[in-house]
Amino acid sequence: MERNVYISLGTNLGKLEENLQRVSAAVAALDAVRVTGCSEPVLTRPVGLKEQPDFLNQVQRLETSLSPEKLLVRLQRIEDEMGRVRERRWGPRIIDLDLLFYGNKVRNTKRLVLPHPQVWKRRFFLEMVEQIDSTFLQQWARQYASRSID
Ligand code: ATP
Ligand code: CA
Ligand code: CA
Repeated sequence: MERNVYISLGTNLGKLEENLQRVSAAVAALDAVRVTGCSEPVLTRPVGLKEQPDFLNQVQRLETSLSPEKLLVRLQRIEDEMGRVRERRWGPRIIDLDLLFYGNKVRNTKRLVLPHPQVWKRRFFLEMVEQIDSTFLQQWARQYASRSID
């Protein structure tokens, strides 16, 4: 069981608050997943492709017995079910579910990079994680520095 899983929910097409509610309900309904914390939703400027609407973003903390890879597949299935069309990277989308942290695990495969490579570059991610647990990032850094990572 991993208790420090942080995911980001983002949307910038259609009715943003409604999309966020629908995707939150879908995440909460996943087997073997429990939602244990939510940040406030925040409007953010797009990164990468600037010529598109703002995003409504939220970070949620999950507790799960799923592996990081399995969890990502479930999150991608939710994106598909909500009608996300995979066009270009960083383009507008009805929903984007990213895995930011899975405890102190690190991954560097093509399908999954952990922590999410953008997490350190997008201040709002860090602020939303801190809103949920003000000690997590420090703990993460301490564990990383002492290499107690599997
Ligand atoms: P960014 O990843 O920079 O936020 P994006 O969300 O627009 O960009 P996507 O098109 O949604 O990118 O995803 C591209 C691929 O990233 C996915 O197919 C997925 O396998 C891979 N990926 C790698 N690490 C992660 C992660 N931590 N969370 C979500 N997807 C990831
Ligand atoms: Ca993303
Ligand atoms: Ca994504």
